Amino acid sequence: MSFRIAPLPPSTAARLREAATVVRVADESPGYPCRACLRDAALGEEIVLVSHDPFAGWDAAESSPYRSASPIYLHRRDCSGDVDPDPVPDQLARRRLSVRAFDERAMMLDGRVVDGVELRATLDELTAVPGVARVFVHNAGPGCFAAAVEVVGG
Ligand SMILES: [Zn+2]
Repeated sequence: MSFRIAPLPPSTAARLREAATVVRVADESPGYPCRACLRDAALGEEIVLVSHDPFAGWDAAESSPYRSASPIYLHRRDCSGDVDPDPVPDQLARRRLSVRAFDERAMMLDGRVVDGVELRATLDELTAVPGVARVFVHNAGPGCFAAAVEVVGG
C-alpha cells in the first residue's frame, strides 16, 4: 500500500476541542464521524463540531487558491488512544467521498467523487501519480473534512 490515512494529530484535536462552541450528543450511529480516532461516535457520546483547515502548517499552501477550512466532528473526550487501525476505516468506507490530490505546491492535480468502498483503489492510483504530495478526503455531500492521506514511499 502506497498511502496512510492519518487521523487528526492529538495536539490539533485538543486545540480544536478547547475552542469548540458547538457540542452535540450522538443520536444515531453511525452518523457523527470523529476525525481524531477515525471512528463514528457511539449513541449518547458527546461530540463537538468545529472548523478545521487541513492546509494549516503546510508552508507551500499559504498562498494556494485551494486552501480552505471545513467542518469536522470530534469526540469531546480525548480519543487519541482509540484510533481505528484499519488502513481504510469503516467511517470512510461507508460514505460517498470527494478525493483531491495535491502537488507539493498545494495545487490540485486530480479530484474525484467515489464511493467509500472504492477509496483504497482510488488512493493506490492517485498516490502513484508523479508529483502527488498529499491527498485530502472530504464527505462528498456535506463537505466535511474526512482525512489527510500521506503518500508513503515512492
Ligand atoms: Zn474520536
